[in-house]
Amino acid sequence: MSQTPAISSFRRIVVKVGSSLLVDQTAGGLKREWLEGLAEDIADLHQGGRDVLVVSSGAIALGRAVLGLPRGPLKLEEAQGAAAVGQIALARAWSEVLGARFMTAGQVLVTLQDTEERRRYLNARSTIDKLIEWRAVPVVNENDTVATSEIRYGDNDRLAARVATMMSADLLVLLSDIDGLYDKPPAPGNDARLVPVVSRITAEIEAMAGISASELSRGGMVTKIEAGKIATTAGTHMVIASGRVDHPLKRIAEGAPCTWFLTPANPVTARKKWIAGSLEPRGAIHIDAGAVRALRGGASLLPAGVTKIEGAFGRGDAVVVRGPDGAEIGRGLVAYDADDAEKIRGRSSADVLSILGFTGRTEMIHRDDLALANE
Ligand code: GLU
Repeated sequence: MSQTPAISSFRRIVVKVGSSLLVDQTAGGLKREWLEGLAEDIADLHQGGRDVLVVSSGAIALGRAVLGLPRGPLKLEEAQGAAAVGQIALARAWSEVLGARFMTAGQVLVTLQDTEERRRYLNARSTIDKLIEWRAVPVVNENDTVATSEIRYGDNDRLAARVATMMSADLLVLLSDIDGLYDKPPAPGNDARLVPVVSRITAEIEAMAGISASELSRGGMVTKIEAGKIATTAGTHMVIASGRVDHPLKRIAEGAPCTWFLTPANPVTARKKWIAGSLEPRGAIHIDAGAVRALRGGASLLPAGVTKIEGAFGRGDAVVVRGPDGAEIGRGLVAYDADDAEKIRGRSSADVLSILGFTGRTEMIHRDDLALANE
């Protein structure tokens, strides 16, 4: 269909893989052949210059199989124990299938807090950024073994959406056991129709996903719609497609049935708008004229250009950046606490280690975390 984008037109793609696709519930093992096919699709995108990130479920299901646990619901600590066993096997499988196609896998285990609390968010993002810069493929899952109920995502649909927005990905692919959103729950004999494009998540769309039917129902389409909301508000397109086929990404590219959730926004602009408009600044950083020019030219703010620190901000907080005349140049998320920022202001990034006793970030504010005024 002409109004839906081609996968190859995106530059940074997060692919979320569900447990039921990866793990054979009856035979109990990993679906290796299927995974090999997916890895080939990923290799095609990667070789074509795209950044690819994987969000992979399957730790609990795989651990359960390895441990030979009986069917039926698991208590939280049982699920966590199963994840401890399964995650090793899962990471090895990804490392092998990607490695066989000349890609390096990097395992990233995160909790809800890592993607929501700004301080930790910066850490998780810098690590993943570095992996991408090295052309490695981050393979992300929830850190199930330590995530207690209060700090759990519980489902990887929302986790994948957060990772996608955190990394300013322009596409999130949810590979699922269903090929998309239907206008009513599909059942044998009914005329439920697949919705090919959702341009806005309305109450009607939510009703299709069954949200109004049962507030309590989790998983399935409900969490996918929630993921869609997170993604599209942040400028990330999302597509739900069937993973029950070989080469699922190639199939989407070939026009397989699926549901696209489109966004009018662009991830970088949406993020900068959020930084500029939604966060309460906790302080100010004054910079010299050279730094103003550098920022306007697209550079990050380095400690060397900073002349004065105001306020008691923490790492990850929003601050106002002011030029030599006090005028606001922009707003950004600062990579140092105010105390540390004061110690390294005016100094070269190379001196940070000897001044602070630890290697911090090279930038005081990374350009991706900086929204310039009138931009
Ligand atoms: N993190 C869980 C696991 O790896 C999966 C959660 C989900 O499937 O949404 O088993």
